[in-house]
Amino acid sequence: MTTTVRAERLEVRSPQTGDLAGTHPMHTAADVDAVVARARAAAGWWAGLTFRQRAERLDRFRGVIARRLQQLAGIVHEETGKPHADAALEAALVLDHIAWAAKNAPKVLGKRRAGVGLLTANQAASVEYRPLGVVGVIGPWNYPVFTPLGSIVYALAAGNAVVFKPSEFTPGTGAWLVGAFAEIVPEHPVLQLVTGDGSTGAALCESEVDKIAFTGSTETAKKVMAACARRLTPIVAECGGKDPLLVDSDADLDAAADAAVWGGMANAGQSCIGTERVYVHADVYDAFLHKLVDVAARQRAGTDPDATIGPITMPEQVEVIRRHIADALARGGTAVLGGTDAIEGRLVQPTILTGVPEDSTAMTEETFGPTLTVTKVRDMDEAVERANATGYGLGAAVFAKKHGEEIGDRLRCGMVAVNAVFNYPQIPSLPFGGVGDSGFGRIHGPDGLREFTYARSVARQRFTPPLALTTFGRTAKTDALVAKIMTLLHGKH
Ligand code: NDP
Repeated sequence: MTTTVRAERLEVRSPQTGDLAGTHPMHTAADVDAVVARARAAAGWWAGLTFRQRAERLDRFRGVIARRLQQLAGIVHEETGKPHADAALEAALVLDHIAWAAKNAPKVLGKRRAGVGLLTANQAASVEYRPLGVVGVIGPWNYPVFTPLGSIVYALAAGNAVVFKPSEFTPGTGAWLVGAFAEIVPEHPVLQLVTGDGSTGAALCESEVDKIAFTGSTETAKKVMAACARRLTPIVAECGGKDPLLVDSDADLDAAADAAVWGGMANAGQSCIGTERVYVHADVYDAFLHKLVDVAARQRAGTDPDATIGPITMPEQVEVIRRHIADALARGGTAVLGGTDAIEGRLVQPTILTGVPEDSTAMTEETFGPTLTVTKVRDMDEAVERANATGYGLGAAVFAKKHGEEIGDRLRCGMVAVNAVFNYPQIPSLPFGGVGDSGFGRIHGPDGLREFTYARSVARQRFTPPLALTTFGRTAKTDALVAKIMTLLHGKH
């Protein structure tokens, strides 16, 4: 690609070692516009292929990722610092999504008949979902494979070209994915990469893309939305959360403790759907807390291969984590494990806080670290009330033998896991996304395919209707008859 990149290059350093992991172009707004123009041309070709032809290419892309999983995981490990095995798991979980999107796109988006009413019985109606054109995907660093591909793959399966701007922390991962796709689809630049910092992302929002799929913080989502407003470019926003986990009195406490530790501390707690707040029924609070601390104390943050928790990817995040823990302790909370002195450089050891007031930043803001707050509640009514007392509404988890789903139904969020954590993103047919400060729109599932399309309706008149309605030649007799029919049909309600 010929570009007029800025003189400086983006330097990526390994959070594990501080070593240089790679340098990448700092693409300017002019570069971004040029890439989007190339994508526009490619989009026409890609949209002109059949669903089957696109599926065949996406399936081969899936094969490449599967065969080179360890190579991809190596780059993710180096750029994010997460354990290599976790990086490989992240990449593996994307494979089912690619298969599902490729296979289901024709069924979900293809032309199908739509029903007609009594007065329109002479019409043949149909609807189909057409690609928007060029989709800009702005990705995060915490799951640099799984999260952006959740938009990219569904947008591609729907027939769009994509311009991908990975986080400045993970451009190498983005380059690998785009390179692998180009091997499968060499004819046209259907999936392209732009790299740089936030200004490159901002340029993508202001370019002539037809939609932006954004994953990141709520604050940046607002900037993205404001920039996109200038051209009325729609966005799907997958922002953060403050996900609760509820433990009822009849829950399997071992399973709940194990899940809470994984939900809160896997990927060093840097998950949008990470568990941050735990609400436990008073009857089982002590027993649960004991088990939770036991499981968490067996995890260790480090840079060696045996560490289960890697370093914090983004250097500034360490201060956010420290501030939240300090605020919890200053307001009367207790660190039953870890605490502020569990932070050393980029490493944060597992931290469990109890007795934290609900207005502490540890309870209200996204911490994005391996920390959990645990709160004793009278019953599940109180748990639901406290869980819902946040502007966020991404995911939630409930552990209960009898009433898990009922409790889950009362939670204000986009996704609920019952007796598990992180299960719903693994199921490709399930839409993923939140409400409130957690964003809007959906990736994954049928909704995730339709998100990158527009509905197009056709109504074909098959024969002249006995009652001609849309003509100036309509008679008073017709009007009287229509009034009578409509009263008969709807008047009884
Ligand atoms: P941001 O929301 O700032 O970044 C997310 C993506 O947006 C990155 O690709 C970033 O690029 C890009 N970006 C930044 N500024 C703009 C802009 N003005 N216009 C368009 N794109 C832009 O998150 P951070 O990475 O700074 O993390 C901050 C916090 O956000 C975290 O602590 C965490 O709480 C939350 N977060 C939540 C995520 C989730 O999964 N929901 C993922 C990541 C973060 P660049 O990296 O180059 O600046």
